[in-house]
Amino acid sequence: MALSQHPKVDGKMIFAVYNGQDDGLSLAEMAARLLAGQKEGWPALRDGYAGLESSLIQEIDGGNWKIQIQCNPRRMASSGADVHPEAIKNRRCFLCPENRPVEQQAILYRGAYHILCNPAPIFPRHLTIAHIRHIPQSLGGNVETMLLLAEDFGPATAVFYNGPRSGASAPDHLHFQAAPYGLMPIKNELDRQTGKCTQRIIGNVAIFRTEGLGRGVLVLRGNDGEAIVAMVGKILAVLSDMTAATQEPLVNVLCVRFGCGWQLLIFPRLKHRPDAFFSEGERRLIVSPGSADMAGVMITPRQKDFHRLTADVVASLYREVAFDDIMVEKLLAKL
Ligand SMILES: [Zn+2]
Repeated sequence: MALSQHPKVDGKMIFAVYNGQDDGLSLAEMAARLLAGQKEGWPALRDGYAGLESSLIQEIDGGNWKIQIQCNPRRMASSGADVHPEAIKNRRCFLCPENRPVEQQAILYRGAYHILCNPAPIFPRHLTIAHIRHIPQSLGGNVETMLLLAEDFGPATAVFYNGPRSGASAPDHLHFQAAPYGLMPIKNELDRQTGKCTQRIIGNVAIFRTEGLGRGVLVLRGNDGEAIVAMVGKILAVLSDMTAATQEPLVNVLCVRFGCGWQLLIFPRLKHRPDAFFSEGERRLIVSPGSADMAGVMITPRQKDFHRLTADVVASLYREVAFDDIMVEKLLAKL
């Protein structure tokens, strides 16, 4: 449905329109104004940020890596969401304009996406970027959008993608998220590793993998957007092969502006949720890892799980749901 045909997409719902900076506000400034306005006019969002501010936080030191655990009860709807195809088909999509809260406003981004404030934020300035139409979540064909968003937001913001079977709570509606990159522990880990890792240039893209971070990360850097898009396509094809995936292979991707180009962090995944998520009673652990968790902000909505997440438990969770260094090395060898 074209945007103009939608009954609720009127002046009230659209906070601002962004078609490139020209002489106007940068996208980051526009988003900051959206957030400030929405905190004033949308009580549920204010509650979401109050919930974030009062979340318990603990730092986990895994030796070579450090992450944060955030106990955020407001994330229960997302962490505990039933993402089975049948359940998804039978619920009202919360990213479609007609189902959104009346108070929720959007920046219309380049005529194709609505930039929204995430009502259950994990980060200060946590945005959801939903396609204006209800089309499936998919990375292939949309990497260019991630690059453009990262460029428009500038280097302080990471744009991230959760695959339909690896953390997206709306696998049926194409969307990205955005949050401050500097608040993601993976940034410091990468800064420490840069220069120590052997970098290869493949197809005009610099590629390396991290070492000893508990979860394997493939890092792409370059100024040639088309080459990056092609390389991500190749990586997805190799991952499909390696994991015998019949649909999009399981990945989380972070994209951030890097110099005059981009840096992409690709976290190949083995499964979405650990077995303990599906356990009964005391053994149940509610963690549902997506990009944020891979980037080092692990979310659990329940306090009893928060206290169980020691370095050993986190390390075993990463081992269970993500590629390790050896698997990423194998992936790299096939590129
Ligand atoms: Zn939808």
